[in-house]
Amino acid sequence: MKFSKIKDNDIANGLGIVMSLWTQGCPHHCKGCFNVETWDFEGGKEFSDNDLNYIIDNINKNNVKRNLSILGGEPLCPQNIDGVIMLCKEFKKVYPQKMIYVWTGYVIEDFDESQREILKYIDVLVDGKFEEDKKNLSIMLRGSSNQRVINVEKYLKHDTIVLYEA
Ligand code: SF4
Repeated sequence: MKFSKIKDNDIANGLGIVMSLWTQGCPHHCKGCFNVETWDFEGGKEFSDNDLNYIIDNINKNNVKRNLSILGGEPLCPQNIDGVIMLCKEFKKVYPQKMIYVWTGYVIEDFDESQREILKYIDVLVDGKFEEDKKNLSIMLRGSSNQRVINVEKYLKHDTIVLYEA
């Protein structure tokens, strides 16, 4: 998995304060994307054990109780999915009560086996590409109204889309 940056304190990409990781590389190329610099699969840097340890060791830095957000780029593309699963799995071993939010351009109904694997470890999935003609920056956690904020636990339990309610 490659990533472009980690932000320790982010209030724009989660509810409350989160630590955010932007993965690098995106195959979707949505028109109007506000993160074009994360498209290039040759950019960014490899996510290492040091980066994993940084997240685990600093998620509560200065006594701030953060959750974790993983954005892109595309976290769930073939180039990034294994590393993102590993990160989520290791994070939840240490912090089972903390929430993990993941943003993807794929839709959950089209997930392959490895993309479905990550659902075991995350709490909220925001799915779907950014669609410029449906742009709406006032809706929770999304850039366009076609995207859905999915309660992953309930999705797995009921095998149907249940939206996350804060
Ligand atoms: S999926 Fe996200 S990062 Fe990729 S092009 Fe669309 S808006 Fe940009």
